[in-house]
Amino acid sequence: MNKEIDNIINKYIENHKHKIDQKFIQNSKNSYQIKRNEECTCGSGEKYKKCCGKVIPDKDYEYYLTQLSPFICNENFLNNLEKEVLTKFYDIAKEAEQNFPANYLILEIAGNIAYELNYFEEAAAYMQKHYNIVENNISEDSLFTLIHSLLRLKRTKKAEKLVTKVIKDNNSLALLMIMTEIKFTLGKVHEGYKYGMRYYEKSGKDIYFLNRLIRLFIQNKLYKKAFPLLKKNYFEFETLGMNSENIKYIINNLVDAVFLIDNSEDLNDNDYFECIKKISEVINYINPDKSLKKKKISKLRQIIPEDYDISFFLVRLFYVLKNYEWIAENEKILMDITEEEETINNAVLDANFELKNYNYLVKKLNKEFEINILNSTDYVNTYNQFRYYLYSLYEVKDKEHTKNLLSFLNNVSKKDTLQDILSVLTYENYYKGFEILEYLYNIDDVNFFDEKEMLEAQLAVINMNFAYLDNNEMDKETKLKINRKINEYKKIDCDSFIYHYTNWLLNRIDNKKYELDLEQVINKKCYHSKSVELKFLVILKLSDPQIIIKNPPENDLTDQEDRQFFKLIAEGKEGDISKIQEVFDKFPDHEKYIENILDKILNEYEIEEVYNRVLY
Ligand SMILES: [Zn+2]
Repeated sequence: MNKEIDNIINKYIENHKHKIDQKFIQNSKNSYQIKRNEECTCGSGEKYKKCCGKVIPDKDYEYYLTQLSPFICNENFLNNLEKEVLTKFYDIAKEAEQNFPANYLILEIAGNIAYELNYFEEAAAYMQKHYNIVENNISEDSLFTLIHSLLRLKRTKKAEKLVTKVIKDNNSLALLMIMTEIKFTLGKVHEGYKYGMRYYEKSGKDIYFLNRLIRLFIQNKLYKKAFPLLKKNYFEFETLGMNSENIKYIINNLVDAVFLIDNSEDLNDNDYFECIKKISEVINYINPDKSLKKKKISKLRQIIPEDYDISFFLVRLFYVLKNYEWIAENEKILMDITEEEETINNAVLDANFELKNYNYLVKKLNKEFEINILNSTDYVNTYNQFRYYLYSLYEVKDKEHTKNLLSFLNNVSKKDTLQDILSVLTYENYYKGFEILEYLYNIDDVNFFDEKEMLEAQLAVINMNFAYLDNNEMDKETKLKINRKINEYKKIDCDSFIYHYTNWLLNRIDNKKYELDLEQVINKKCYHSKSVELKFLVILKLSDPQIIIKNPPENDLTDQEDRQFFKLIAEGKEGDISKIQEVFDKFPDHEKYIENILDKILNEYEIEEVYNRVLY
């Protein structure tokens, strides 16, 4: 394998090295020479002669340039290389840099390769040194490699400093655009606005950019800047086509939500335009940065269409604009002027949940929750409040109120408490739900929960995402915790283990070692037909089909027909392809189902054979 890569690399070098001549080599060696007593460009603070100037190269400069010649002669060379090849070239570039640490060209090549390999730390370091040497002569490509590396490393301030420096001499569109985004990222929205507008003017009013810009304005709550621009260009956005990125699409959604329009097609563009005007009038009048004053209400009454509840209108407006702060901040006045208390109350709770104001939610809901739940007729509201409260209790670890909640739930829902809890956990990511159940179980000192049921519930939450166990991004500690739970789970006898675990096994694409032994699955008794099926599929795919052929597992399958069905498939899997034909003939109504099963248990060669010989 390594030899193969060496061959590929040598071929690339052979193909390119003749394109760089002696003159180029000497020129690039002598360009940007640093004086011995100057500060070293590597950033050490030492004099050059005492730092990088001291390095004595192992091999000569010409050697390294030849090795890196494909990158010099072909600027697109980087883009289509396989990772192994690129990594090998990266090793060469690193070695070259160690020998010629103050050579602008080698630094540039090393930086570009590092970036392509997603080594942003290294890319930033190499490119920074390159920039220290060539300064304003840096190519736009390399400059952007440096800027993007810094941004990927979340060194936004450093990127800002760099762009501030180069933008004086070069205010290209690309730089203005990246500066706009940098400023917004840093929360400097007004500076971001200025750069954005500079871009927009300079680009000759590029509608694509304006689209992006207005989205940035709205995200950063600069409504007063966004809406006038939007109104002015509303019809032009049509040319962009409608998709979720299109500002017109976003605004149409806003109008739909605020004016409760079910069918947008009933309104023409001009009607929409009127709605937008109304919305921007409202936003202009109330100033979204400040709390709403009571004296403003009567004027709002004149702007907002008569049959609309003002609070309702405003809450929907700011909800779609994701300005949860405004909703949370104006709770009191919104509640005072509304006739739809329950809805507004829930919107305020939801806004606070979005803002992660867990302490607020616990404080508010520990007084209201039980009453609200018992009185509410709205299932969605009930469900949401339950969710906010449970999550908030978990986040602030308020054990007393958690216990109260559990005993309340136990009184109302009798035995279904755990199921109720489980139903609100499905939204969350795999691990949070697991942690919340763990938290509840540890708090439970009066045995609300049955141990076995709790284990099942925890695994159900994880199992929905069993594949996360294969996810390299999950930290080790979490993986360990989950594996420990799975081991506990192995001990108890239940179908859901088979169900989730086998599903996971079947969907794994690689042949990694399985953390749990297959025996465990094979020997477990199953009750539900779905678990039985999955168990069989695991045996067929990962274990020995003979198990099914020799000992038709009477315990698991009571249905004679099912047993015959799987026996035929097992024989097919063992190589007797006529049996696969027989399955299709005997179960003509199940064609899709059989194909599905075959897809799961056969490898690609077997599938090809089946498709050639049976499914033509
Ligand atoms: Zn140095």
